[in-house]
Amino acid sequence: VNETSDSVELQQDKLLGGLLADGFDDEETCLSRYQSAMYYHKGLSEKPSSYLISRSGAQFTESSECKYVLWISFSGLGNRILTLASAFLYALLTNRVLVVDPGTDMVDLFCEPFPDSSWFLPSDFPLNVQFNNFSQNSDQCYGKMLKNKAVTDSTVASFVYLHIARDYDDHDKLFFCDEEQRFLRNMPWLMMKTDNYFVPSVLLMPSFEQELNDLFPNKETVFHFLGRYLLHPTNNVWGLVVRYYQAYLAKADERVGIQIRVFDTKPGPFQHKKNILPDVNHQEDATNSSGIPKSKAVLMTSLNSGYFEKVRDIYWEFPTVTGEAVGVYQPSHEGYQQTQKQMHNQKAWAEMYLLSLTDVLATSSWSTFGYVAHGLGGLKLRILYKPENRTVPDPPCPCAMSMEPCFHAPPFFNCKAKRGTYTGELVPCEAL
Ligand code: GDP
Repeated sequence: VNETSDSVELQQDKLLGGLLADGFDDEETCLSRYQSAMYYHKGLSEKPSSYLISRSGAQFTESSECKYVLWISFSGLGNRILTLASAFLYALLTNRVLVVDPGTDMVDLFCEPFPDSSWFLPSDFPLNVQFNNFSQNSDQCYGKMLKNKAVTDSTVASFVYLHIARDYDDHDKLFFCDEEQRFLRNMPWLMMKTDNYFVPSVLLMPSFEQELNDLFPNKETVFHFLGRYLLHPTNNVWGLVVRYYQAYLAKADERVGIQIRVFDTKPGPFQHKKNILPDVNHQEDATNSSGIPKSKAVLMTSLNSGYFEKVRDIYWEFPTVTGEAVGVYQPSHEGYQQTQKQMHNQKAWAEMYLLSLTDVLATSSWSTFGYVAHGLGGLKLRILYKPENRTVPDPPCPCAMSMEPCFHAPPFFNCKAKRGTYTGELVPCEAL
């Protein structure tokens, strides 16, 4: 009896407490789905709510009644991961099917998340050519329709385009108002282009409040659980993750992740994080210690190798005051963003994932690449500030202590008053 209950428990763990769908026939096609639990040591111990588990197991049956959210591939991979999670939550809340435009840069990165179906749009989808050209100026753009008062009967059109990208205007932002959601409810296809983690604004919509409370009693875990449910590296990417982890990180007593996002062409000031990396002793050449020292593996990721070389050399040239042995590793230095290249995207995804497997993580502010890492890992965030004019600014993200990603371009808009409002005034950060 014990053996059976043990194996049931193991299976539950492997499937993240039942969050992962259990209907896949062949584990070999997506090893990460079943192996990832073995690699997460630290991070969130909280379990998903039973309601979230019940919703994630629900299957759509084929029926002409289905309504869809089409996610259009747009922006860097970190942005894309955050918007996939946002679009999926919206689909869950509105009982729609999430469909993904594979674009040129979504191939061989993620396993199919839903059993017995593909989330990719079929290549013969009739509007394929058109939706890549959608913009705020398109007649099908919902914001433009609202501006021109062209919104009449949602049963007439079969789709609208939702522009929720950084440059969206006040009319596009009405997407986050209940009144407009009532219109969208009947629309068979919603085509969505976004580079934003827009979940925080969905959390503020009264019509979804009850459902969201049931799904996520702790609002800090939304991306964590959605990401862990939805985003499983394909076997190619998983190979990159596992080989690197086993070669450089597995044997260390502690794993530290540091993500340096270089936005400027010139390198900015690097802050030595005292509470993350041990100090070195500049006076002594060697310490006389007996026994095997504790080991720290520092995983650095960056487009450049300059910071990595500096940190690695410090720990080679001087002993640590703590006596720890520090190994510093950086998987790649790709130089610049090359979103159209498959191996570049696979490495970027593998590096985000590797960062999420560390015990202590510091990521760069304003970087969605970093948000993905600490959100998936369920790690409390430490921020490396983005230098402005080579100086360190005030914190740019008011909810920095949350492991939720930041919404970079929130709508400063009050739906009831139909005017601009500082969103922070609507709900204090602590309530999210
Ligand atoms: P963000 O711009 O920092 O918000 O992150 P995104 O992931 O959306 O876009 C940055 C893109 O640049 C990534 O998707 C990668 O293509 C590339 N990139 C940036 N930093 C790194 C890094 O440390 N490692 C690798 N492999 N690629 C990176």
